[in-house]
Amino acid sequence: MNADLHKLIDLQQVDGRIAALQSEIAALPKEVAQIEAKLAGSKAKVEGAQAGLKADETARRKHESDIKDQQEKISKYRDQSLKVKTNQEYKALLSEIEHAEAEIARLEDKVLEIMVAADSRKEALKLAEATLKADTAENEREKEHARQQTAEDEKQLAELTAQRNGLRSGVSDDALRHYDRVLKLRGSAIAAVPDNQMCSVCRVILRPQVYQDVMKGEEIIACDSCQRILYFVPPPPNEEEAKEGKPPVAAVSHEEAAPADEAAAQ
Ligand SMILES: [Zn+2]
Repeated sequence: MNADLHKLIDLQQVDGRIAALQSEIAALPKEVAQIEAKLAGSKAKVEGAQAGLKADETARRKHESDIKDQQEKISKYRDQSLKVKTNQEYKALLSEIEHAEAEIARLEDKVLEIMVAADSRKEALKLAEATLKADTAENEREKEHARQQTAEDEKQLAELTAQRNGLRSGVSDDALRHYDRVLKLRGSAIAAVPDNQMCSVCRVILRPQVYQDVMKGEEIIACDSCQRILYFVPPPPNEEEAKEGKPPVAAVSHEEAAPADEAAAQ
């Protein structure tokens, strides 16, 4: 096989892995942001439950203080009732006392309501705190995983970049220029040609002479339709394997990954 062609096939595999790693690295901060948002939600629930309990406590104290005020009023009215001169004044004080007693009953109901609700509020707080604890631990684990993944990806990326540079330095300028141009335009620059005589990416049937030349593999040949550099993939060695649908040995697997780009380019 043509030396450039051989290296370009490898180069496309390396470029494909680099692109996949780069998108994985780019996606990780978003994943971390989602993890953080989930934790913030759990924290907000705990804070909400705590605030609810605190508001109830404040309201209960206010009601109790109001009850005390009403009780003081009642005892003041009772004292006054001993000194009144007329029946009318006495009735007026009695009415005030009844009014204050009704107010006390209303406030006591409210205090009771708060005390009844407190149990379920405390239960909700406990639940929210347990969820927060679990989410915090999960958050740490997932962030650690993301850190390790990024470090691993970056290490692999450095290795692949070195491999890429090595491959590129061994390819002739013309072939490299063509490869780069088509890669930029279409997302992949190399296409396999199996024995159906088609460009495996754009599905156009090659002219017989072109197919012959691709089979020989002695020179760089571009697909007339999509401009990808073509290379021949021999059929599987026996019928059995062909029936089982095993892919040809040298198939470049990520070539099928650009259908949208293909449609846009034609
Ligand atoms: Zn093509």
